[in-house]
Amino acid sequence: MSLRTRLAFLYTAIVGGILLLFGTAIYIIVSVALVNQIDATLIRATREIIQTTRIESSNSGDMQVVILPPLDFSTDVFAQVWGRENNLQAQSPNLSGFGSPLDPAGLLSGEAVFHNVTIGTAQLRVITVPLMLSGRWIASLQVASSLAFVFATQRVLLAVLIVGAVVSMAFANFAGWLSTRQALASLETVTQTALQITRADDLSRRIPYDGPAEDEIGQLIRAFNQTLSRLENLFNTQRRFVADVGHELRTPLTVIKGNVDLMRRMNCADDESMDSIESEVDRLSRLVGDLLLLAQAESGKLPLAWNPVELDSLLLEAMQQMSVLARDKINLKLGEFDQVTVCGDPDRLKQVLVNLIGNAIKYTPAGGEVILSLGKEGTKARMTVSDSGPGIPAEDVPFIFERFYRGEKSRTRSRDGKGFGLGLSIAYWIVRNHKGSIDVAPRQPNGTTFCVWLPLSPGECKEKEAETST
Ligand code: ADP
Repeated sequence: MSLRTRLAFLYTAIVGGILLLFGTAIYIIVSVALVNQIDATLIRATREIIQTTRIESSNSGDMQVVILPPLDFSTDVFAQVWGRENNLQAQSPNLSGFGSPLDPAGLLSGEAVFHNVTIGTAQLRVITVPLMLSGRWIASLQVASSLAFVFATQRVLLAVLIVGAVVSMAFANFAGWLSTRQALASLETVTQTALQITRADDLSRRIPYDGPAEDEIGQLIRAFNQTLSRLENLFNTQRRFVADVGHELRTPLTVIKGNVDLMRRMNCADDESMDSIESEVDRLSRLVGDLLLLAQAESGKLPLAWNPVELDSLLLEAMQQMSVLARDKINLKLGEFDQVTVCGDPDRLKQVLVNLIGNAIKYTPAGGEVILSLGKEGTKARMTVSDSGPGIPAEDVPFIFERFYRGEKSRTRSRDGKGFGLGLSIAYWIVRNHKGSIDVAPRQPNGTTFCVWLPLSPGECKEKEAETST
């Protein structure tokens, strides 16, 4: 059964239940009110009769005979007086010819009682009242009224309630059906779009929605569209990644194959070819190593030592190591320098510094400068690598931490045999695994400043908590 049918039935059942409760209450209240009204009429008539009744002694002298007053009995009110010996003493004219007690059971009770009785096809409400004389029960007065009006009213009321309930339930069902159709139409669009996406393998599609964005359907569609964007992004990244890896592998493999062919043809292994093969194999190993490291860091599974790390010593070590690369081409120097301790893996943090300083040296023209600095800001350590190079074009900035991303200039540069476009990604993920962040800003008048933020060590370094990998 569809959701729409179920909702329509639910509405119908709710309306039906409410109507059943109200209908039952109305039916009972009206019935009780009608019977009360008849009882009040009977009590009034009984009082009137008793007040005007005559009691005469019989001929024998010891028996009293009750004579009903010549009241104007409406056709609906009947009266009888029965003596203690069950002898009919008097009855209203509208009962002439009827010689039985209106309520035989009532005659035995000795107190005022109401009973419903059926005589032939007529249903009557009967009150029986004992008539007393000087404290003696001498006869019983029975006054009755027809219940036909009550039953007729009950029948009409029941019919009205049943017809009303059926019409209301049909209306509720129809209204439920209509209103859910409008609400669920958007869900059908979601289903259709999802099917189209699957069939056409096209993640660029989005679900259109004209309704209010903050309602449940709007939120669902927004969440679905966000998921699609994320999936599209992931698929594109994956595709690009495979293409990039393929591209990076092909060049060294072509060089190696060319050299092997050459050596086979020449039938000798010359030093130049061997050097070239070795250098390309080194490049391949570096690429595979970087990729493995990145995969581990991205999934948060990078094995990290978690010890206090003195960033000042680490920075000096990295500077020492990279000064070989800078030689006298670049002025590598220290700026602000503080003593700072963080928790983490010294080798990995040094790798971040080496990648940043390496890039700064690589992209800064000869004669430029690279300034390293270290300080604290609040609860964070701040390490900066600032160069006087050409800077990073604004359009490249959002992408530089992506795998294999290389700025236009770097791509068109002659291959320096080193860059794969992985250095900044690796730095980014290592810093993320240390609960820190990394950002980049242009340096005035020219150049680039990379800034790494890490939480300061609270004293001892407790076991590292699970790291988010997104
Ligand atoms: P690679 O240096 O191997 O190309 P990276 O991931 O280290 O890869 O850097 C990505 C890109 O960011 C580089 O291709 C370059 O365009 C840009 N870049 C990084 N550091 C600098 C810098 N200090 N100055 C200018 N551009 C930079």
